[in-house]
Amino acid sequence: MGGKSRRCPVCGSTKTVEIVYGMPSYNLYLEEKAGKIKLGGCCIDETSPAYYCKDCGCEFGTLLGNPIRELEK
Ligand SMILES: [Zn+2]
Repeated sequence: MGGKSRRCPVCGSTKTVEIVYGMPSYNLYLEEKAGKIKLGGCCIDETSPAYYCKDCGCEFGTLLGNPIRELEK
């Protein structure tokens, strides 16, 4: 495994974005509007999905082994 591309396991699309958890800042809201990320809400645990597929809408991966983006303090 490995590699930089995060390919959707369902449809094979590479149009996937990182899911960002926590209380969204306005900047994160704008990033979601621009299609760069997906907001995952405040509830987070180690089984929460890490990526979102913009083509089929599925969420995949887990946060385990993935660095969680530091939220703005
Ligand atoms: Zn997909």
